[in-house]
Amino acid sequence: MGRAGAHGGAPLGRVAVALDVTWAVKWLTLSAQAMAEHRVELIELDRAIGDSDHGENMDRGFQAVLDKLAEAPPQTPGAALKLTAMTLMSKVGGAAGPLYGTAFLRAATSLGDAAEVDPAAWAGALAAARDGIVARGKAESGDKTMVDAWTPAVEAARKAAMDGNGDALTVLVAAAEAAEAGAVATDPMVARKGRASYLGERSAGHRDPGAASSALILRAAVGAAA
Ligand code: ADP
Ligand code: MG
Repeated sequence: MGRAGAHGGAPLGRVAVALDVTWAVKWLTLSAQAMAEHRVELIELDRAIGDSDHGENMDRGFQAVLDKLAEAPPQTPGAALKLTAMTLMSKVGGAAGPLYGTAFLRAATSLGDAAEVDPAAWAGALAAARDGIVARGKAESGDKTMVDAWTPAVEAARKAAMDGNGDALTVLVAAAEAAEAGAVATDPMVARKGRASYLGERSAGHRDPGAASSALILRAAVGAAA
């Protein structure tokens, strides 16, 4: 029985998406596009509570990811994420480079050499990424960092994967929406980690740039599957 025609998979009228290497490469390509499109916005967010480099860093890093993907096309989603991790670690400076590098590396390890990512595996990869960010940066929820986008995304993905009907797109959407809400929720927070914490109370009233870029990346994962 073909996957697209399977009963109990995608809701009626929608073909189940396969989260394979083609999806992964499209995800990273759309992430690069999003970083380019939102470069100025991320710069402005970082200008308010940091040093204005986040948009520049992320745009440069993901453009380098596109070059690497073209040079050495990966064979599995895990390989695509590992290549991304290595590239972001070497090309993105500041706090975000090592944090995103660790996130993508842990996600790659979690996926292993599987040809496709099922809903539970996506939830697991997001959890691994979040745990990597926390291991590296030691931020907790509410510290006004990218963790405030990733943790709700992990929880939403786990829930959707558990309640789900086997439809990967539903799980991707749940994670992206939760990350977006998580990023918005950083607005009133007072930063307790990273450069923004130097501002103390004055960091309140601004969105955390890393939470904003994280939400864009998780939204791109939906776009790649839609
Ligand atoms: P830098 O702060 O070195 O200029 P970027 O501007 O590229 O680096 O990235 C800033 C983002 O990194 C912040 O918006 C925040 O989301 C994230 N960040 C900084 N420190 C931490 C940390 N300890 N844990 C998690 N995320 C962090
Ligand atoms: Mg910065």
